[in-house]
Amino acid sequence: MSRNLDLFTRAQQTIPGGVNSPVRAFGSVGGTPRFIQRGQGARIWDSDDNSYLDYVGSWGPIIVGHAHPDVVRAVQEATARGLSFGAPTAAEVELAEELVRLVPSMDMVRLVSSGTEATMSAIRLARGFTGRDTLIKFEGCYHGHSDSLLVKAGSGMLTFGNPSSAGVPADLAQHTLVLDYNNPQQLRDAFARHGDQIACVIIEPVAGNMNLIRPTTEFLQTLRTLCTQHGSVLIFDEVMTGFRVGLGSAQGLFGITPDLSTFGKVIGGGMPLGAFGGRREIMQKIAPLGPVYQAGTLSGNPLSVAAGLAQLKLIQAPGFYEQLSATAQALCAGLTKAAQAHQVDFCAQAVGGMFGLYFRRAIPGNYAEVMSCDKDAFNRFFHAMLDAGHYLAPSAFEAGFVCAAHTEADIASTLAAAGEIFARSTRG
Ligand SMILES: *Cc1c(COP(=O)(O)O)cnc(C)c1O
Repeated sequence: MSRNLDLFTRAQQTIPGGVNSPVRAFGSVGGTPRFIQRGQGARIWDSDDNSYLDYVGSWGPIIVGHAHPDVVRAVQEATARGLSFGAPTAAEVELAEELVRLVPSMDMVRLVSSGTEATMSAIRLARGFTGRDTLIKFEGCYHGHSDSLLVKAGSGMLTFGNPSSAGVPADLAQHTLVLDYNNPQQLRDAFARHGDQIACVIIEPVAGNMNLIRPTTEFLQTLRTLCTQHGSVLIFDEVMTGFRVGLGSAQGLFGITPDLSTFGKVIGGGMPLGAFGGRREIMQKIAPLGPVYQAGTLSGNPLSVAAGLAQLKLIQAPGFYEQLSATAQALCAGLTKAAQAHQVDFCAQAVGGMFGLYFRRAIPGNYAEVMSCDKDAFNRFFHAMLDAGHYLAPSAFEAGFVCAAHTEADIASTLAAAGEIFARSTRG
C-alpha cells in the first residue's frame, strides 16, 4: 500500500489534477507525485517514509536547506507576536533596507506575496511610467501567470503574440511581442519597428523555466542599450536568479543595471514573499505616491518577512556562494563525466546554485535548442534517480537547485547512482 498513491487518488477528487501547481502532478514524467511530509537540510521524506536528496528545494527558495534552525526560530518568534496586522511593521522596513542595500539598482522596493504578483505589478508600473502598452518577452521564459505574460509567439517573426492559456483575451496578448532568447538581431529589428511603443522588456537574466539557459554578453548588452535608447523600461525578473546565482543576483554577475527588478523565491526563505523595485523616479509612480495602483492585504506579512530576513542573513556568511557554486559545479562535472564514460548524449552546466541537465550533445542557447533534448531519456533517468533516492525536478524543461546543506558525500552518492543508471542505459 502506497500512501503517496492513496493521497494522490484522494487529492484528485477535490483539487484539480490533485495538485496546487501543475508541474507537481508529474504530468511530464508520468507516475505518482511524492507527497512530502517533512524536510531537513538537503533531504526530504515522502508519505511512505522514503527519503530523497532534494535537488528542487521548493523550486529555489530553500537555499540554506530545509527547516534551518535560524529560519524556523525567526518564524516561530514572529508567529507568537501575531500573524498579520494590515498595518506597517518595523521588520518590513528592515527587509526593504536590506534588499536595497544588496541590490544597487534598486532605490526603492515594494513587498508582495508571490513572484507572479511582483512581475504583474512591475509590468503595470512600467506601462504607467512610460504611458505605452507594448511588452517584449522571450520564448521559454516564465514570469508567473498574469494575463499579459501567458503569451506565445505569433505566426510570423515580429508579429504580436497569441494567448498560451485559455481565458486570456487575445486583445491582451496583442500587446505582447515574444522574441527568441539570445538573438540580439531580432531584438534590434523589433525595436526598429516598434521602438517608441515599447513600455518594457521583461527577461529572466539566466533563464530557469526552460531548463537553464545562459544569456550571451552581447544579448544582454544589446538589450540594455536598446531600452535606454528608446526609453523602454528593462525589467530583470530575478524571481529565480535573485540571491540564487550569487549575492549580487544575475545583474551583479553580468554587470548590467536593469530599471526594475522582481524577486521572490529565495527572499522569502520558503514563505510567500515577492518584491519589485528599481529606480526611484519609476517607483514613485506607485500608489499612494503616484497613479499606478498596487496593493495587498497580506503584503509584507510578518512571518514571510521574518523568514526572509533570517535567510538573507545566512547567505551573507563568508564563502557561502563559493561553496554553493562548488557544489553545483561538482554535480554537473561529475554527471557529465559519468555520461561520457557510457556514451550517453548528455551535458550539464551550473550558474551559482542552479543547474541544467540536458539529454543532448551540446549546451542549448534558446528554447528551440532546449526542446530538442531527448525527453524520454530524461524521463527514464528521472524515475531511476527517484527510485534510488535522488529527487530531481519532474520535467526535462526545468532547472535544478542545490542548497548549502548538500555535502560532498551527498553529491558523491548522487553521482554514484547516476553512474549506475547511465551504465544500465547503455547496456540496454
Ligand atoms: C517562479 C517564478 C515566477 C513566479 O513566481 P510565483 O511565486 O510562483 O508566483 C516568476 N518569474 C520567474 C523567473 C520564476 O522563476
